[in-house]
Parts: sequence; structure tokens; C-alpha cells
Amino acid sequence: MTLTTHAIVGAAVASVIPSHPVIGFIGGFASHFAIDSIPHWAEGEILLRSVDRPKTPASRTVRASKDLAHDFVVVGLDSLLGFLAAAAILWGLFGAPLYIVLLGAFAGQLPDGLQFLYFIFKPRFMVPLQTFHERIQEEHTNIAYLGIEAGLILVVLALGILGAFMLK
Ligand SMILES: [Zn+2]
Repeated sequence: MTLTTHAIVGAAVASVIPSHPVIGFIGGFASHFAIDSIPHWAEGEILLRSVDRPKTPASRTVRASKDLAHDFVVVGLDSLLGFLAAAAILWGLFGAPLYIVLLGAFAGQLPDGLQFLYFIFKPRFMVPLQTFHERIQEEHTNIAYLGIEAGLILVVLALGILGAFMLK
């Protein structure tokens, strides 16, 4: 899933209980794996150039090169768009506290950040998390699968609108 989708969904989860940031953080983090298991577009495989992808799980690495600079820009823009969109929808539209929105967006994106650290340093204690993360992935290269991410974001919008009405 794109970081944009992860940020919006993570922020939405954290915004459900704005008075409990710790639960929000855990919920946002967990939401990453929940939606990674929905069939989605293989954005990493298609957009990123520096990741070597051997077939054995948890054996990927990142090559330091011009490709890595390219990937930093792609990932950075995706992440930034995620924070902006999450803030626009959940803080701007639905009035959730901004720090909760940003915390949830961060937590939702965090597993992919940890994955990146794993690619570089390969610490042994991270192997179970990485294996789990790779095993639940349901990735497809057909661009139509981006529609599923758009659908997820629409669900957040719809639930937010419903919630805003019910609170009135
Ligand atoms: Zn992921």
C-alpha cells in the first residue's frame, strides 16, 4: 500500500479515541498490517529501484546508488502527501486533534519505515516482524488495484461524515 493510504487510515484509527494517544498509536500501527493484507497495488515493486528482491522472504536489501536517491524522493513525497491528506480530512474536515492525526499517520506509516531499516541493517530481532510483514502482503502489479486504495480512503471519508453527523 502507498504511504498516503497508510497515513490516512492510521490517522482515522487514532482519531476514533482521541483521548488515548497510546491506544491510537498502537491502533494506527496495527492498521498498517490490516490493510496490507487487502489485495493492493505493488507500489514498492513498481516505483522503487534500489530494493533487491530475491524470492526468499526477509532477504531483501537496499543498494546505495543514484536509485536510492530516486527512492528517497518517491517515498518522501508519498509520506508527505499522506500527512497532508490525513490532516486535511481528519483535522480539517472532521475536527480530530491535529497531534492525534499526525501521530496516527506516523504510526500507520511506521512499519514501512522499519522495513526500510531492516533492509539496510538486517538486525536479527527484526526478522519475525519482517517475515510477518512480507507474508501478509497481497500485492498486484495491475494499476487497477490502486482503486482499492482509493476505495479505502473513500470509506474513511464516508465513516467520518457519518460520525460527524452522529455526534451532532
Ligand atoms: Zn507495509
